[in-house]
Amino acid sequence: MDYQKILEEIKSKVDIVDIISEYVNLNKTGQNYKALCPFHSEKTPSFFVSPTKQLFHCFGCGKGGDLISFLMEYEKISFQEAISMLASRVGIELSISTPSSLTKDKFYKIYDITANFYLSKLKESDLVKKYLKNRGIDEKSIEKFKIGYAPKDKNSLYKHLKSHGFDENLIRLSRLINKEEDFFQDRIMIPITDSTGRIIAFGGRSLEDSINIPKYINSPETPIFKKGDTIFGLYEAKQHIRQKGYAILMEGYLDVILSHQYGFSNSIAPLGTALTFQQLNKIKRFTNKILLSFDSDKAGIKAVERCMSLLLQAGFIIKIVVLPQGEDPASLLQKFGEKMFKIHISKALTPVEFYLKFSDKKTLIEKVNEALSQISFIRNLLYREELLKELSEKSSIEELTLREELKKISNKQREKNFFSSKGKSLLLNEEEILLIIGIFYPEKLDFIFHKIDMEMIENSQVREIFIKLKDNFRKENFSINNFLNNLNESQKSLVSKLIITSEINEESINQNLMDCIKKLKIKAIDKKIKEIGKSGDKEYLSKLIKEKRDILRFLNEGL
Ligand SMILES: [Zn+2]
Repeated sequence: MDYQKILEEIKSKVDIVDIISEYVNLNKTGQNYKALCPFHSEKTPSFFVSPTKQLFHCFGCGKGGDLISFLMEYEKISFQEAISMLASRVGIELSISTPSSLTKDKFYKIYDITANFYLSKLKESDLVKKYLKNRGIDEKSIEKFKIGYAPKDKNSLYKHLKSHGFDENLIRLSRLINKEEDFFQDRIMIPITDSTGRIIAFGGRSLEDSINIPKYINSPETPIFKKGDTIFGLYEAKQHIRQKGYAILMEGYLDVILSHQYGFSNSIAPLGTALTFQQLNKIKRFTNKILLSFDSDKAGIKAVERCMSLLLQAGFIIKIVVLPQGEDPASLLQKFGEKMFKIHISKALTPVEFYLKFSDKKTLIEKVNEALSQISFIRNLLYREELLKELSEKSSIEELTLREELKKISNKQREKNFFSSKGKSLLLNEEEILLIIGIFYPEKLDFIFHKIDMEMIENSQVREIFIKLKDNFRKENFSINNFLNNLNESQKSLVSKLIITSEINEESINQNLMDCIKKLKIKAIDKKIKEIGKSGDKEYLSKLIKEKRDILRFLNEGL
């Protein structure tokens, strides 16, 4: 299949800004859009998308490229998979499926068949059904979340998979079997899906609460499952999150399942306690408001504190639901029903209230300082103002005083940021500008290569890209799109950075070109003069000086 042709067709039909804005919150700035980078954690946006050039670049982590590179990086998929994803979106039919998506398909298949196997085992076991009933989980929820049961048996799943004709290697790679034994035994099985609803892993809960066995175990990571990238319940919740305008973030699978059952269908949970930046990015596609509803014990409070700073840094507006001592959302719903949970939601605390009431810091000053340092992470000015005013009211400390303190904290942070991003100047040098001109105006390449020796380019990466251009630009089917696709990752990243940074003006293009060539030539001659100066070859030296003068004169005459 001719991917190049398909790629051209896709690119003519989709806009990079439309697609990327489904993943990150883009804001217009001049000709470009900017956002917080989805690939690294940051407080000020350094992720740029150029609609005119159909490229993105992050000045923080250096990732960049076209729409396809974005999808590959974000969705962790192959080039072919990214193409087929976009193709189906714009209604282009791809005739053959690709090798790497085939392998992934096999993983999805094996997890799907395993889920059905667990489902059938649940139906056979009255004991397990009774257990779920006791935990308050009804038939509808079992169906909605495809809850199952892994039997108390060493290899019934293995035999089942074999009977479906899966080969030994794939079964092993799926990690559902561990050293000849089923990975999950005698556990309630809760499928974990990706945001499109495909089953990619399982959470297994033990039936008995014993200290000898872990209460929950999750599937190991596989090519289709990355723990830190996945949010439990997001597929089921996403539409409701959009409708209600916020998500409720909980700790456990059972919390989420019961919340959905009682009508809080916008509930989700990370897998395990540590929330990651990637998970937050997934949530951000649907909302920037989060209600935290964790356990009300000490560990729960600690977890809230940890999440809160991450959430504020990631730009979320948050509130914290505090449940009565010893309750979690699941137990509260089961005991008191949805009305009670609603009441607690309506009484949710702002971050300021939470810090003043629950922070483990002892004195008011410590608590206020902690709250201030959290507030300093917030970039939304209105939200920042709101919390600052609230902190002043509730702590009875003058707003002006708080503002002064906040300034100090922010300055300290800015200093940190400044020093960590040093050396990343946005100004392009002549080598870089020349490269950009070559890429946008390939008709100038002949002239450039005629005037410039490759050794004159000091930056080895720029030089390598130029050499590739030189080798290819005369070929009949040469196009810049093709060319960019042939670059390696770091080269692509450099080119996209240059393209997004440069604002080349059509009218001054020749002037720019000549300036760059002049500067490069003179730099090369100056280098030689310096070398000669040491050995003292006066004759050669004067020859070089004359050459420099000639170049200056020649170049000043223009093209
Ligand atoms: Zn980045």
